[in-house]
Amino acid sequence: MKRYFVHTFGCQMNVNESLRMGEALATIGYRPTPTAEQADLIILNTCAIREKAEDKMLSALGRYRAIKTQRGALLAVGGCVAQQEKGKLLARVPYLDFVFGPDAIGKLPELVTRVVEDRVRVAETAWVDSEEYVFPRADPGSSAGKVSEFVTVMKGCDNVCSFCVVPHTRGREVSRPFVEVLQEVASLTTVGVREVTLIGQNVNSYRGGISFAELLLRLAQVPGIERVRFTTSHPHDLSDALIDAFRQEPRIAPHFHLPVQSGSDDVLRRMKRDYTVAQYLERLAALRAARPGIAVTTDIIVGFPGETEEDFQRTLTLTEQVRYENQFSFVFSARPRTVAAVKETEWGPVPHEVKVERLERLQAIQRRISGEIGAALVGHEVEVLVEGPSRSHPSRRFGRTPENRTVNFDGTAPAGARARVGITHGSPSALLGVEAGLVDLPPVPPLRPRNEAA
Ligand code: SF4
Repeated sequence: MKRYFVHTFGCQMNVNESLRMGEALATIGYRPTPTAEQADLIILNTCAIREKAEDKMLSALGRYRAIKTQRGALLAVGGCVAQQEKGKLLARVPYLDFVFGPDAIGKLPELVTRVVEDRVRVAETAWVDSEEYVFPRADPGSSAGKVSEFVTVMKGCDNVCSFCVVPHTRGREVSRPFVEVLQEVASLTTVGVREVTLIGQNVNSYRGGISFAELLLRLAQVPGIERVRFTTSHPHDLSDALIDAFRQEPRIAPHFHLPVQSGSDDVLRRMKRDYTVAQYLERLAALRAARPGIAVTTDIIVGFPGETEEDFQRTLTLTEQVRYENQFSFVFSARPRTVAAVKETEWGPVPHEVKVERLERLQAIQRRISGEIGAALVGHEVEVLVEGPSRSHPSRRFGRTPENRTVNFDGTAPAGARARVGITHGSPSALLGVEAGLVDLPPVPPLRPRNEAA
């Protein structure tokens, strides 16, 4: 029996695609192994979003080279760096056996067979045209024992934000037909999944036969599904229909990740983000009116070319104004073939030490706000969908609130149950509490009649 090991970098899309790689490899007799040292095939599923992620990939490749030499294991690179570098990666890393892009996951069995039998080094990084693209179907068996699972609903992005490498690594948007999504979610409930998070580079521009709002409403009615989430979104696709879906359907979880990227209109214009801060705030106000208490998180890039101290101050002001639950903030790093990389000198590069200093200031403010939000929950009861034992304290239980807050608690509620938890401590990253009982499940609502197409 051959064994494989996948080292995953980057986003949830990659985590999900690593599972699909495993399912494809199972068709030619490969089984997973928890350590690279025991593997006959080592795959690095890579991320190209920041320079740091690429550096990490290169250092991991160096480590795996020794295992390759000792065991004769195959070494492969998949994901976004593979798509970006294509065959050049084989030249750069002479001990690499093959390279494959995100669209070639279904071809993994064929690639491995070719590399083993024909003793060739290959790069398979062709795009598959939108009409022909078939989304890898998840095997529900891979999700057994999980309460919460990710479901791919689209890939690629039709926006051209000037800093982003995604259009070069994932191509144009392709949406998965809604019937397939509904079937996959229904099959996940048979192994105990109660919460699904829909993923894609820009999920709210979904066009898989119905609108994204309609997709959420339908999924919320799949028997056994208690919460529907999604990530990630573009503010200009936050439609009135989507806001209305939040108003109508409590099973659409009250958390919205809405990347703003900067609090300055000048920077947003150079980023080609297609909205102003005022427009962003207007959408957010409508969303908060539709679902009071909704938790909002965001992404921010600090030190984008041409960002002045005044621009950065606007980002700080926006952070205070919105009071994000959390932010994913990073310093700008130029990615190959993007407009921002080409124009960086013209727009004015921000010195590295200035970027780092600004990032520290921003993150200190966000830590304070996250801490205040957590502290305000002490003494209150929250509802937690229990996922199992806590990773940090195995004697405790772990789960998340509808707002996606992480909760570790003392109690006995089984995985899949909804527990009422009294909060005893709130930190910027997690809540601590004690179980106060189980939530009585409301009856599953009757299916609403609706048209097939939006
Ligand atoms: S919307 Fe997101 S994925 Fe698409 S180009 Fe912009 S930043 Fe990249």
